[in-house]
Amino acid sequence: MELDQILNKEELTKDEIVFLLSLEKENEIEKLYLCADKIRKKYFGNEVHLRGIVEFSNYCEQDCLYCGLRKSNKNLQRYRMTKDEIISTAEKITQAGIKTVVLQSGEDHFYSSSLVTDIILTIKKKFESAITLSIGERGRDEYEEWKNAGADRYLLKHETANDELYSTYHQHEKLKSRLAHIKCLKKIGFQTGSGNIIGLPGQNIEDITDDILLCKEMECDMCSFSPFIPSQDSPLREVPSANTDLTLKTIAVARIVLKNVHIPSTTALLTLIGNGAEVGLKIGANVIMPNFTPIPYRDNYQIYKDKKTYDPIEFLNELKVMLDKIDRKVGEGKGHSLKLMLNQ
Ligand code: SAH
Repeated sequence: MELDQILNKEELTKDEIVFLLSLEKENEIEKLYLCADKIRKKYFGNEVHLRGIVEFSNYCEQDCLYCGLRKSNKNLQRYRMTKDEIISTAEKITQAGIKTVVLQSGEDHFYSSSLVTDIILTIKKKFESAITLSIGERGRDEYEEWKNAGADRYLLKHETANDELYSTYHQHEKLKSRLAHIKCLKKIGFQTGSGNIIGLPGQNIEDITDDILLCKEMECDMCSFSPFIPSQDSPLREVPSANTDLTLKTIAVARIVLKNVHIPSTTALLTLIGNGAEVGLKIGANVIMPNFTPIPYRDNYQIYKDKKTYDPIEFLNELKVMLDKIDRKVGEGKGHSLKLMLNQ
């Protein structure tokens, strides 16, 4: 196959995506990154969208093998933030000039539909902010209630498009059911986010290709491709972190295939490589998600080990200097889905 030819095509076949993810020569990988950056620029110009995260509970009813929040992990000090704590964190996010609040947690039914609704209504009333929910699988009625309350987006990653691997890592769970949730969220009208974990044992390049193609097929508005990093309190504690090159190639190829979707430079990438935010933004990503989870909770949201923690305001200051350096700037507005804008 001829690299230049592939990079000039509008639609890529599965074999061509596998070919791109398998590139090894430095000059070829460089071409891949340049192409991804060009496509990112075509859709987003020099705008980088920020989403402020608050990780409001680390209780989880699920037992995902790779995750430090899994319910079988008895070593984790669990916490739940009160509504007031969540709202005051949302206020900090808004005051920092960030126009999306991401509410993330383990799967925790302590937060009833009405409590989540109440939190959404309060944030929407007090602040001029978009809301993304990332709180795992819930019922269709709940999704509808939260959408009606004003939540804009829902992030529910498919994690892996390989059926068998999905069932290995989520015992008693099926990929089909996860995808039904994502489709349901989309139908209800959420801007929907999905994505994978790169570097799970047993996963190969074809699987990662399928992850990208699945995001395309489901017409997701945002897609997060994050590297696996082990949690010392999970059965995968001995598994090495994802390969950095494969992670970066996945982000770049995803940009080339998915074109106008939002792709974050993830916290996991920041943990994997020190200058992850900058590197990610240069090879296809257009979103950064600064973490506003307050101390002392922040240290206990241990999805994986050595999760990068920082003071969000310092982080933002450094980020702005970096953005300036690479000729980018914080995006105007709420950074809604480009797909949504096109359909209006
Ligand atoms: N409970 C929610 C969201 C919280 S977890 C949900 O199920 O959607 C957020 C994300 O962290 C998950 O979607 C998963 O992709 C990622 N994650 C979990 N463990 C990880 C690990 N060890 N390395 C990298 N990412 C991980």
